[in-house]
Amino acid sequence: MSVMNVRLPRPLSRRRLISTTAVAATTVLGLTALSACSTSTAADGKNSDGKLDVVASFYPMQYLAERIGGSHVSVTNLTEPGQEPHDLEVSAQQRARIEQAGVALYLKGLQPSVDEAISQSEIGTKVDAASLTSLEKHGSEVGGHAEEHDHDHGDEQGSDPHIWLDPVKYSEVAEGVGKALEKADPDHAADYKKNTAALVADLGKLNTAFEDGLKNTDSKVFITTHAAFGYLAERYGLTEEAISGLDPESEPSAARVKDLQKMAKADGVTTVFYETLVSDKTAKTLAGDAHLKTDVLDPLEGITKKSKGEDYLQVMRSNLAALQKALGAK
Ligand SMILES: [Zn+2]
Repeated sequence: MSVMNVRLPRPLSRRRLISTTAVAATTVLGLTALSACSTSTAADGKNSDGKLDVVASFYPMQYLAERIGGSHVSVTNLTEPGQEPHDLEVSAQQRARIEQAGVALYLKGLQPSVDEAISQSEIGTKVDAASLTSLEKHGSEVGGHAEEHDHDHGDEQGSDPHIWLDPVKYSEVAEGVGKALEKADPDHAADYKKNTAALVADLGKLNTAFEDGLKNTDSKVFITTHAAFGYLAERYGLTEEAISGLDPESEPSAARVKDLQKMAKADGVTTVFYETLVSDKTAKTLAGDAHLKTDVLDPLEGITKKSKGEDYLQVMRSNLAALQKALGAK
């Protein structure tokens, strides 16, 4: 099946454009080319049952679309449950699916293949979540600790796309998505507004729970596998030490692992966090060598049966509980 995942070469996509023109000409001639297009979306972005057709790039985008769109939208997630989203390659089939949608909701910078497919598509409403809040550059060390000490990792800083793990930034994105849906489907604007307000209220409560729950802790430092929790760390006065960088596939250097072991001792770190969609091998090695516990901190890049909760809010509550335990919250 990997053959299906190769990018369409230029000449092919040009040929596709020509064939679209050919179909249009056929229709003008009065031939019934319509049956082949019955699943495609009308000019208003709605599918045959009148729902706004939304393509979401990965789980946190799907959650926003479903919460805000409610019963007026039909949401397709491009990232399969259990699939690690960073390295998703958009298939030819998915490209065709994207072309049919009325709205694309994605996060530029997280999935290059999705960025490319959406920018090439002629979809009516393209919503880039990254443009609805502010992004920062983060390395594998984020938070107060990184400024206090001068650890030299030769660490590369990249623009950090993991905004959904900060309830405040995620809430900003939710407001923007709500406005985009109101514009794309004015008939249901009042419902989108109401649903957005309910979601923003939920995220506000979640933010308060994190603020209160992490105010008094023995330690402020936590170790994770990939650097997904930088915004969360900054929001609640913690320091994230990631074993690898912003991309879960990157391998840590031996020097980085040694440095982390030293730091764990100095900062009273009790736990090395790993996640559900990525191998826990490095985390377990590090924890074993440094006599630390391991636990799950879920970056919510996908929801599966293994997730500690059924949706964004539940998994974030589990993450809070895990952090409180590991940091010794009082
Ligand atoms: Zn990530």
